[in-house]
Amino acid sequence: MRYKDKIVLITGSGSGIGKAAAIAFAKEGATLIVSDINKDNGLDTVSEIINNSGKATFFEADVSNYQMVVDLMNFIVDKFGRLDVAINNAGIGGDYAKIADMTLESWDKTMLVNSTGVFYCIKNQIPIMLKQEKGVILNTSSIAGIRGLPNAAGYSASKHAVVGITKTVAMEYAKNDIRVNAICPVFTVTPMFDPVAMDKMKSGISEKLKANVPMKRFADVMEQVNTMLWLCSDEASFITGQTISVDGGLTA
Ligand code: NAP
Repeated sequence: MRYKDKIVLITGSGSGIGKAAAIAFAKEGATLIVSDINKDNGLDTVSEIINNSGKATFFEADVSNYQMVVDLMNFIVDKFGRLDVAINNAGIGGDYAKIADMTLESWDKTMLVNSTGVFYCIKNQIPIMLKQEKGVILNTSSIAGIRGLPNAAGYSASKHAVVGITKTVAMEYAKNDIRVNAICPVFTVTPMFDPVAMDKMKSGISEKLKANVPMKRFADVMEQVNTMLWLCSDEASFITGQTISVDGGLTA
C-alpha cells in the first residue's frame, strides 16, 4: 500500500502501459484520475479499478489541447485538493516512414501529442505541487528518446524532447521537493506495439526487433509498471532528473 491516500493522475490510462499502471497504483491504495482521449477505454479502466475495490474517476482530455489540460488540472484541484503523483504517459506512435517520406502532418501531430502534450501537463501540474511543497512527476519517454529509431524520426525526436523537459524541470524544482523522472521503455506488448500487426505490415520484423534486445524478448507491461511504482514512491526519494531505461539491455 505504498500509495495509500495519494492522488495519482495517469494520462493515456485507457490502454496499454497507462491502464496497467492505473490498476496497479489503485491496488496500492491510490485514488486514480484516469485520463484519456478515448472515453470508452478510460471508463473501462475506471470500472476495472472500482470492481477490484479501488478508487478511480475518469476525466476525458486530449493532452494536445491546452484548454482540456487546464480543465483536467482544475478538476483535480476542485475534487481532491491536491495532486501527489502525475504520470504523463499519453502518446502516439506516429507514422512509420523514413524522413524523406514523412508527411508534415505526421511530424506535427507526433510532436504536438508526445512533446507539447507533456509540456502542457507539466506546466499546469507544477503550480499545484508548489503549493503543497511536494510532488512527483513521471514522464513516459522511450528508448527512442535516448537513441535513434530508423523509420520513426518524428517519434524519436518527440521522445528526446521528453527527456530534455524531464531533466530541465527536475533541476528547476528540486529545491521545492518536486521530483521529475522519465522511464524509457523498449518494445512493450500493448495496442501501440503489437508484434502480430507489425509482422503483417513487414514479415519477420518482430523477430528482428526482438533479436536486437540483449535479453531476446519484448517487455511485459508489468515490467514498465513495476518501475513506475518504485520510481514514484518514497523508496526513490533522492532520484530526480533521471531517465530509467526498462529495455532488457538494449541501450547498454
Ligand atoms: P497505447 O496502448 O496506445 O496507449 C496510449 C493511450 O493514450 C491510448 O489510450 C490512447 O488513446 C491515448 N492517447 C493517444 N493520444 C492521446 C492524446 N492526445 N491525449 C490523451 N490520450 C491520448 O500505447 P502504450 O504502448 O501503452 O504507450 C504508452 C506510452 O508508452 C506512450 O507514451 C508510448 O509512446 C510509450 N512507449 C510505448 C512503448 C511500447 O512498446 N508499447 C515503447 C516505448 C514507449 P487511443 O487508443 O484512442 O489512441
